[in-house]
Amino acid sequence: MAEIRLLHQETIDKIAAGEVIERPSSVVKELVENAMDAGAAAITVEIKDGGISLIRVTDNGCGIETDQVERAFLRHSTSKIRTVEDLLCVSSLGFRGEALSSIAAIAQVELITKTASDLTGVRYVIEGSVEKEKEEIGAPDGTTFLVRNLFYNTPARLKFLKTAQTEGSAIHALMERLALSRPDISFKLIVNQQMKLQTSGNSNPKDVIFQIYGREITASLLSLEEQNDAFSVTGWIGEPFVSRGNRNFEHYFINRRYVRSNLLAKSLEEGYKPYLMQRQYPFCVLYFTFDGECIDVNVHPAKMELRFDRNEEICQKLCACVRKRLGQKELIPSVSVDRKEAKKKQAPPVLPKERLPEPFETERLKKYQKAIWQSSPYEPKYPNRPKEAALTAQPVAAAENAAADSRRQEGKAPDETAVFPAQTTQSYVQEELQYEGRFLSKEARKRHSILGQLFDTYWLVEYEEKLFIIDQHAAHEKVLYEQTVRSLKEKTQTTQMISPPLILSLDLQEEEAYHALKEQLSAFGFEIEPFGGREYAVCGVPGNFFHLNAREILMTLLDSYDGIKKDDAPAPVLEKIASLSCRAAVKGSHAMRRPEAEALIEALLELENPYFCPHGRPVIVAMDKYELEKKFKRIV
Ligand code: ADP
Ligand code: MG
Repeated sequence: MAEIRLLHQETIDKIAAGEVIERPSSVVKELVENAMDAGAAAITVEIKDGGISLIRVTDNGCGIETDQVERAFLRHSTSKIRTVEDLLCVSSLGFRGEALSSIAAIAQVELITKTASDLTGVRYVIEGSVEKEKEEIGAPDGTTFLVRNLFYNTPARLKFLKTAQTEGSAIHALMERLALSRPDISFKLIVNQQMKLQTSGNSNPKDVIFQIYGREITASLLSLEEQNDAFSVTGWIGEPFVSRGNRNFEHYFINRRYVRSNLLAKSLEEGYKPYLMQRQYPFCVLYFTFDGECIDVNVHPAKMELRFDRNEEICQKLCACVRKRLGQKELIPSVSVDRKEAKKKQAPPVLPKERLPEPFETERLKKYQKAIWQSSPYEPKYPNRPKEAALTAQPVAAAENAAADSRRQEGKAPDETAVFPAQTTQSYVQEELQYEGRFLSKEARKRHSILGQLFDTYWLVEYEEKLFIIDQHAAHEKVLYEQTVRSLKEKTQTTQMISPPLILSLDLQEEEAYHALKEQLSAFGFEIEPFGGREYAVCGVPGNFFHLNAREILMTLLDSYDGIKKDDAPAPVLEKIASLSCRAAVKGSHAMRRPEAEALIEALLELENPYFCPHGRPVIVAMDKYELEKKFKRIV
């Protein structure tokens, strides 16, 4: 047997580093989280070459005392916990004390740091866990880390990295999430000397959303606020029209930390189900607060995934409040006549020019800066140290914080809402609820002017300076679907006998599907009898489908059986049957006469959610008079 030897400390460090530092974005995450824990009000990240050749993180936090610098780079050195018991109530982001030692093991690291009480700062260089330099230098308060040539001494790991572009995108995405998690901190990301992200740090999360996603998405936000005994949540969900093909637009924060959670995502998506096509995912930025006892934060080493107690309850309550919120708004998408105009709406915001505060502004902001922190639930680790204000903090934030300041002076408890000011949400809820000019309301119906039909499919309706376009198939499908689901629920679904019966010849698979679905089909209203061999006689059809093509409907159902079975959506089989039947029933265009169209619009008025067909396609879209006038250059 080979001799058993102890590994070199350097090798041990490199192995351990592999667990903490996978790629450049892991370095950024650890360093930015440290800066947040240090109570920084402004954090700047600069990267070159996707972070592989350089990552610079600068903060204006508490800094590290000169005599503590070496210790910070030792494995399991941390100022954040002392014992295992502390883990349970830790409110800071990092606590394993492994980040700095890991980064120093696999890169060339330079640290410049100064605390407010020290007169000078210190510069410390460490490469591959080996200390190279330590010297006194002049520096501003706070900390700067420079991490160069990541994985320079572990070439195998370097090879695993993706392109600089991909690694850079991962860092960009990470910074967006960090910025959303802390609207009270001003974040900057500079990539190859170009400013890619800048947030004001004015405590308003909606501003951060605007700074990241731009006008179109910000305009589509619906505020969500809910408090129950399972959780409380505040934040925004997007109108269904801004959905995406993956979950990148879903952002969940628990106790102010970014998390990935299947449970929350599934519940939210279930809420959106009547509004979205399959494999479309909504936009959301939701800040949850859970009782510490309900979640297990140590499931994942990076603490991104959590486990909950009471899954079922959380799921139901979240789904219900999302549905309710979506139901409060008339969700008709506006279509743009002008492609250029539509593109402009989607463009990301132009980043504000970097502007340092004027001297008088700095003074004024300084006056309020204490209040920012005393009113914030994120207490800096070193509360005595006065904090620099965010560089671009807004006067609004200052005013709010002045209020917090006076509260503090009066000895009142700090107001938690100061970080997420209430005004940012309430006004929107009210605005939407008061909106009475709905297109689909009995009131408005009297003033609809039905212009006619287009392409045998669309009905054009003029109302209040807008042209509404109704897809007759989608509308018909939705009306039929809601009526059917209602009568299934209330068990009032009827069967209409047909004579002579309809004879179906099934192949082997279809027959198998028929036997598997027999009971549900009968509950749905079909009456079917064996007719010899593989033939079946359909003697009765669901009353509400009487005039529609029963053969087409049944064959579609039997052919989609595999899909019904495999579909992981939790909707009951009967509901799936209803949705498939409705689609089959109205397939194929046919000219509709005006009275039918009028009856259809009347029927839409009665629906719970008339704006989307059961498969999530829009039923109605609208076009502004203004848009048309622009197109005809009546307005320039
Ligand atoms: P952890 O964050 O788990 O404590 P780290 O290795 O990330 O471990 O950091 C070690 C220690 O170094 C921290 O506990 C903190 O005291 C100090 N530190 C790291 N980064 C900063 C920073 N940007 N500002 C102030 N102190 C810092
Ligand atoms: Mg840390």
